[in-house]
Amino acid sequence: MSALGDRIKAALAKGGLITVERFMQIALADPQYGYYMTRDPFGTEGDFTTAPEISQMFGELIGLWAAEVWTSMGRPNPVRLIELGPGRGTLMSDALRAARIVPEFRAALDVTLIETSPPLAQIQYDALLTAGAPIAWKGAFAEAPDGPAIVIANEFLDALPVRQFERRGGEWRERMVCLDDRGELAFGVADKPEPYLNMEADEGSVIEISALAHRFMFELAARLVKQGGAALFLDYGRSVTGFGDTLQALRAHRSVSPLTEPGECDLTAHVDFAAMSRSARAAGAAVHGPIDQGDFLRALGIDVRARALTERSPDRAGEIEAARRRLVGKGDNEMGALFKAMAVANRAVRAPPGFHPIPAKPA
Ligand code: SAH
Repeated sequence: MSALGDRIKAALAKGGLITVERFMQIALADPQYGYYMTRDPFGTEGDFTTAPEISQMFGELIGLWAAEVWTSMGRPNPVRLIELGPGRGTLMSDALRAARIVPEFRAALDVTLIETSPPLAQIQYDALLTAGAPIAWKGAFAEAPDGPAIVIANEFLDALPVRQFERRGGEWRERMVCLDDRGELAFGVADKPEPYLNMEADEGSVIEISALAHRFMFELAARLVKQGGAALFLDYGRSVTGFGDTLQALRAHRSVSPLTEPGECDLTAHVDFAAMSRSARAAGAAVHGPIDQGDFLRALGIDVRARALTERSPDRAGEIEAARRRLVGKGDNEMGALFKAMAVANRAVRAPPGFHPIPAKPA
């Protein structure tokens, strides 16, 4: 068991219980042992690989997306470009390079990176040292400077803790983490039922609610409504709210039990895009999508970009095509349908690029 696991066990020793939400929060964000607080989790050496780490095309297309949104916002200067959970800084680095083709946009940019992890903030700093844009780091979205904003978040929402509720004896009870007879971490349920949850379901069904993600989405949408701008979310999840336990732990690219070695494996839950969309609309924002990531990237021109890169570096043709397919393909082990894109925007922003169906090829 990990150091953090031992500490949680000691805290639960005398019949204690914590919610799944609290467990997830500790496992990911404990200042001393939390997963993101202690390491660089990405890449083949790490625990998982994200889209910007697969290909430069991903960040480049998002940079061009931002430039086009800026134009439909009426070209404000300055404009806040805010990224949530920037990982290694790869997406932002590729986006800023691509945005050079719209010099007025580049000149108007004021970049804020929202990051809780000290080691990742350091890696982002190194990656963006020569990016040529003013960049500041903040620990929470609420600390980002005011003004019209373009917000980018890839695989951010899935890291926000969820509460889980399980159907037991005809009632919903919150799922908890406790100790079993052998003193190991185990799932249980709270003694008291949750009478305000009243959906019908079969015994054993699980529902997930991310109160933190709801609050965050409402605040973000309210800001965009008041101060102008748009936000782009890319993540894996479902388009329709449904039942199911999606809590998932990854270590070295393999799925492991969420309760083994907290702090040593990534812990995520699928994003409920329908629920996120409801929160954003409740705050008065317009919502575009969710649509499949593959359709989004193809509408932004990933095929054309891949051809241009291949012409420039013919020796890399195989690698570029493999990356393109991994990002847009809809088969197993491809991200095109598993991941969704959703935009939240001030109603004054015309339909953001990428969310319109691509016209069919003439026969
Ligand atoms: N966007 C990056 C990284 C995704 S991993 C990429 O696509 O490669 C999740 C990122 O969110 C990490 O950078 C992690 O440190 C950060 N993070 C997790 N919880 C956060 C929170 N509550 N606030 C800000 N950043 C957070």
